[in-house]
Amino acid sequence: MTKPVNRVYSRFGTTIFTHMSMLANQHGAINLGQGFPDRDGPAEIRKAAARYVVEGPNQYPPSPGMPRLRKAVAASNRRFWGLDVDWQSQVIVTSGATEALASCFMALLNPGDEAIILEPFYDCYLPMIEQAGAIARVVALKPPEWSLPEAELEAAFSDRTKLIVLNSPMNPAGKAFTRDELGIIARLVEKHDAYAVCDEVYEHLVFGDHEHIPLMSLPGMESRALRIGSAGKTFSLTGWKVGYITGPAELISIVGKAHQFLTFTTPPALQLAVAEGLEMKDSYYKGLAGDLESKRDFLGKTLEGIGLKVLPCHGTYFLTVDVASLGFEGDDTAFCEDITRNARVAAVPNSAFYHPDSTPPHTLVRFCFCKEPEVLHEAAKRLEQYFR
Ligand code: GLN
Repeated sequence: MTKPVNRVYSRFGTTIFTHMSMLANQHGAINLGQGFPDRDGPAEIRKAAARYVVEGPNQYPPSPGMPRLRKAVAASNRRFWGLDVDWQSQVIVTSGATEALASCFMALLNPGDEAIILEPFYDCYLPMIEQAGAIARVVALKPPEWSLPEAELEAAFSDRTKLIVLNSPMNPAGKAFTRDELGIIARLVEKHDAYAVCDEVYEHLVFGDHEHIPLMSLPGMESRALRIGSAGKTFSLTGWKVGYITGPAELISIVGKAHQFLTFTTPPALQLAVAEGLEMKDSYYKGLAGDLESKRDFLGKTLEGIGLKVLPCHGTYFLTVDVASLGFEGDDTAFCEDITRNARVAAVPNSAFYHPDSTPPHTLVRFCFCKEPEVLHEAAKRLEQYFR
């Protein structure tokens, strides 16, 4: 007899991102699956990191983060979102947004609590919530608009609700929640004396007339919202895993306890280099979003050109496409595996972002567009040839 291992993790497989990236490598496919840019972010930031590694500091930084980065996070909250936060009591640096999410859940959830998640949702929310002993209450958004279903959301909230996870702009749906929708969430959070864990890693990747509005900026939310950012997305350096949490001092204090027992701290050279990034001019941020927007448009046109229905995309790295018109026999996962092997372009099935007990739409596929123009061109050529 062997004793059973952890009941949560033993139920989950390898993530869809790893699975599709491995398959893409095996078949020499262009990887439009896992979301990462193929051009590294600003050379100044990378050079700064190298300099800090050589010259130091290289020993444990303070657990909440290096003062310079916490000050830079507070300053960018003010500059971009008009949020006034005290860098000492209201900011924590984490090892990526992933650790930030884990620290927030550990800090807020007790066994038996309920946590509301909006479906389709980023993959780590569910295991993290369950490992904290809490119960995930799923509210599904419907394609193609992915509007917030007010009545269903209202019905999901109860006295047992400890928190809602709000990911805006949303992965994989590419949706930026509107002020009206945020107002509905804020009203329910207040009514039920709950908290909001706001995953805003794509805060700077928003296109056209759409805008990113932090839930924290709505009345009443500054005392209930924890706002998470990621240098990985903001500076196209996804492997760095530097994240940051902003929130009310009382919550940041308990989140800091979870963080100190989880990773304690984050590499100092990367923290200082990210601080330099956050200090960059507005033109950097505008350029980043503008560049991604033109890549979104290019990939969208190409996919439409081969007869696919492209869903609206307000932000993030991702376009969702309905492949029903191709008449493929098999579900979205089989479709993604098929095009990876045979068209040599990888994508990610939308159903990977659904609760195991839900019924996902089985014809939606997520393509990542944060790639160099020539890579997108080649991917388009391969898809066109395959589906001609
Ligand atoms: N966030 C990335 C995506 O959605 C994946 C990150 C990961 O591989 N864990 O593609």
